[in-house]
Amino acid sequence: KVKEIGKSKIQFFDDQMQEELIYVTKIESALKTALERGEFFLQYQPQFDISRNRISGFEALIRWERPDHEIISPSVFIPIAERTGLISDIGQWVLKEACRKIRDVKEKVHQEINIAVNVSPVQMRDVNFSSQVKDILADEGIRSDLIELEITESILIENIDQAVASIKALKETGVHISLDDFGKGYSSLNYLKVLPIDTLKIDMSLIKGLDVGTVEKKIVGSIIALTHDLGILVVSEGVENQEQLDYLKSRSCDIIQGFLIGQPMPENAVNQFVVSQKDDHLSENG
Ligand code: C2E
Ligand code: MG
Ligand code: MG
Ligand code: MG
Repeated sequence: KVKEIGKSKIQFFDDQMQEELIYVTKIESALKTALERGEFFLQYQPQFDISRNRISGFEALIRWERPDHEIISPSVFIPIAERTGLISDIGQWVLKEACRKIRDVKEKVHQEINIAVNVSPVQMRDVNFSSQVKDILADEGIRSDLIELEITESILIENIDQAVASIKALKETGVHISLDDFGKGYSSLNYLKVLPIDTLKIDMSLIKGLDVGTVEKKIVGSIIALTHDLGILVVSEGVENQEQLDYLKSRSCDIIQGFLIGQPMPENAVNQFVVSQKDDHLSENG
């Protein structure tokens, strides 16, 4: 009996692996043509500045729509794009697209918005990356301080000196740098002392715990306090309810992002959203 179960388990595992392999191979080859076929698009999730009581900017999040209208999540295809090297072209496209959105909002609704763009560790390791960023900003005619690049700590684990050097090179272009997903992996508060970052994003796994645990409350509270001591801004990710917001407010978190404020929205909804914020602000003051 035990043997049988063991055998069927192995069989099941093999089938699943086989299926997964077929899926990944399919995605890999479709990814190669996705860019030229215009299958990628961006969604924009608002970020809310608690003390100023207004939207401070948006995070650009990539989506991939297949010809059969299936939408594939970035958590599925970004790792594949990283392995195949396609991430470099995709990443440059994302930055250009974000710049075009800034220009579009400026031209149509006369507001300058900040946009945060995710950067893969693979892009960060490329010695040409900072000059690519500089060229794109110049070509698109965008003020560099309107762009924030979100990096992750995986680049730090490999070689901290090199990571600091590439962050410095990026900062010379004038963009802001934020450290994404803090608290998701082996995040160390020691990194913060050596990294020339502007913003720290607390991962939603820690924010989730604010509902229930007091341990998470203490951890998040200490992260905010230390980060502020170092002169770094704090964004909390994945804020979904009032309880979480109230706690973050009480600890003076600067910016929040999450479904409580807004889901990622399509590109063509951004302008109207910005206008409605402007109206809100005016009516508040008048
Ligand atoms: P991330 O940069 O940490 O982005 C936040 C993710 O959390 C997004 O998922 C967003 O839709 C989701 N989210 C935001 N608020 C909430 C909330 O209140 N509750 C919950 N449950 N989720 C929330 P998304 O768009 O699926 O992106 C997943 C990850 O894919 C991103 O995590 C980022 O690491 C990566 N990614 C997305 N766009 C790009 C890109 O253009 N380039 C690169 N290299 N990576 C990207
Ligand atoms: Mg991000
Ligand atoms: Mg994150
Ligand atoms: Mg991330």
